[in-house]
Amino acid sequence: MPELIPVLSKEDIEKSVAGIAKQISADYRHRKPILVGVLKGAFVFLSDLIRQLTIPVKIDFIRTASYGDETSSSGTVCLTKGLEIDIHGEDVLVVEDIVDSGVTLRWILDYLSGFGPASVRICALVDKRERRQIDVHVDYVCHVVQQGFLVGYGLDCAEDFRHLPAVYHLKK
Ligand code: 5GP
Ligand code: MG
Repeated sequence: MPELIPVLSKEDIEKSVAGIAKQISADYRHRKPILVGVLKGAFVFLSDLIRQLTIPVKIDFIRTASYGDETSSSGTVCLTKGLEIDIHGEDVLVVEDIVDSGVTLRWILDYLSGFGPASVRICALVDKRERRQIDVHVDYVCHVVQQGFLVGYGLDCAEDFRHLPAVYHLKK
């Protein structure tokens, strides 16, 4: 039986999201960034984050896939849903669930830069550095987690566990 080991409590997440939202609200004061959520994993984080912001924002989503049902990256990224809002000349904040190898984020940054945004920054719930292959800078990090496959708070394993309010290490 797979085991769920607690990593981030509901309270840990609430606190870090409030802190990051405060920082983002200050940094983007008098601006209206477009937040681009990376589906599906970031949907819970994005929805909590935007309700703590004190600045106006626009929301769009993209969807990338690289994992399939496995717990390690396939190394190739494909886009299964692109942008719907025109980000040309706009400030963009990418909202990701986890940055792991950095392959997905690098791909997303290249994709977004093709539309000519004024700026692009990254916000991630979890920065997991154990398997980092590509040196991507994450501007806003809620939590650094050293290792393990994480589920809960939007994060899945083969579409299970997204509904859990906290983050767990799934030990097989
Ligand atoms: P990367 O391309 O950085 O290796 O991985 C990026 C994507 O893989 C993340 O956006 C996330 O969706 C998924 N991922 C990476 N680590 C984990 C993890 O521990 N748990 C889950 N559920 N997804 C992960
Ligand atoms: Mg993701």
